[in-house]
Amino acid sequence: MITFKIVTPNGVTYEDEIEKVTIPTGDGEITVLENHAPLVSTLVPGAVFVHKNGQIVHLAVSTGILEIRPNSEVYLLADTSERAEDIDVERAEAARARAEKMMKEKDALADVDFVRIQAMIERETARIGVAKKYRDVK
Ligand code: ATP
Repeated sequence: MITFKIVTPNGVTYEDEIEKVTIPTGDGEITVLENHAPLVSTLVPGAVFVHKNGQIVHLAVSTGILEIRPNSEVYLLADTSERAEDIDVERAEAARARAEKMMKEKDALADVDFVRIQAMIERETARIGVAKKYRDVK
């Protein structure tokens, strides 16, 4: 089994003993099984799939850090994370539309704002994707 924990500024949002987890990283999506080699990588906005007892828990995450420790301990330090069933799709779509509108006005933006808005769009797109996929498989 894997000890899997997601920690955000709001505290621990997920903690369980699981069999397998798929995680979006800066080096691509990785699937972690028991006894994975230790690893530190960046976490990028996307979907996390937690496998346990034949069930899959779907979550959206934004940016952060992934740490795989020896002894099958896997930690995500994430800016945000939500379980698919808790995602408010309308809120995410409204937030993404606002960010896209700002992006259209990008001539007036400094590079740093451009990067922040791009990150907002990716975060909301991850939420929308996770929520819709979850609703489809339900
Ligand atoms: P908004 O612009 O809609 O307020 P945001 O993208 O600025 O959202 P974040 O800073 O990413 O919000 O997250 C703030 C908190 O709200 C976090 O705890 C996050 O998990 C939660 N959250 C954000 N968007 C949603 C959503 N669409 N559904 C459910 N929870 C959300």
